[in-house]
Amino acid sequence: MSVKPAICKECGVEGTFAKVGRFPDSTDERTYLVGWRCPRCGNLTADMCPVGPIEATPRSCLNCGDELADGEPCAGCGMTATEAHAFLAVEGARGDVEAANAAFERGLYRHAFALLDSLLADDPTQRDAWVAKGRRYQRIGLVRAAARSYERALAIRRDALVEIALGCAQEEAGDHEAAIRTYDALIEYHDAAGHRAIAYGNQANSLSALGRFEEAASGYLRLSTSCRSETADGVRCLLTE
Ligand SMILES: [Zn+2]
Ligand SMILES: [Zn+2]
Repeated sequence: MSVKPAICKECGVEGTFAKVGRFPDSTDERTYLVGWRCPRCGNLTADMCPVGPIEATPRSCLNCGDELADGEPCAGCGMTATEAHAFLAVEGARGDVEAANAAFERGLYRHAFALLDSLLADDPTQRDAWVAKGRRYQRIGLVRAAARSYERALAIRRDALVEIALGCAQEEAGDHEAAIRTYDALIEYHDAAGHRAIAYGNQANSLSALGRFEEAASGYLRLSTSCRSETADGVRCLLTE
C-alpha cells in the first residue's frame, strides 16, 4: 500500500523500495504501481496505489481524491477524513516538502503525496509543494497530473525551469498545442538564452509532431543560432530525471 513497505508473501519480511511507475501501455492516470523487493528471496511485490487528489482542497479525500460531503465517509473509498489521515500517516507528521521528499525516496509514495496534499489543502500558495508533486507525477508517468501541478506552481510565480517541465509534460501527454503555447510564453517572458534555446528546440519537436515542419525547421534554426551549447539536453531533463 506504499504507506509502509510491502511485506513479502513468501518470507514475511519487509521489502525495500525497487521502482515506481504506471501500468505499462496505460494512459489511465487513476493508479500507479510501487515495486518492493524482498531482501531475502528477491521477489518483487507490486503495490497498486490510487492517485489521490491532484489539486487538493480542504474537502478532498486524501486517500482517493474524491470530494467529501460534510461529516460523511468518502463516496469513493468509504473512509472518513479522520480514517484517511490515520491510514496515510499524516496526522502529527511533519508536513513539509523536505519530509515528503524523504518519504518518496523510501518508496512511501502514498504517505508522501498525502503530506504534500494536506499541506496544499491548508495553504495552496506553497509553490514548492506543487513543483514537488509535479516532479513525482512526471517521474511516475502521470503526465497530465504533472502538468496540472506545474500550472498551479506557475500561477504563483513564473519560473523558466518549471515552464520547461510543464512543456515536457504536455508533450508527453500528446498535448502538443498546449506545449507550443507554453514555450511561446516562455520565449516571450524569459531572457536567459539557455532557457529560450531549450524552448525553441522542444517547441520544434511539438511542431514536428503536428506535421508543422516549416515552423519546426525555423525553430531548430533559432535553437542553433541562439545557443550552440550542449547543456540544452541537460536542462531539459533537469526537472524530470
Ligand atoms: Zn521473500
Ligand atoms: Zn476517498
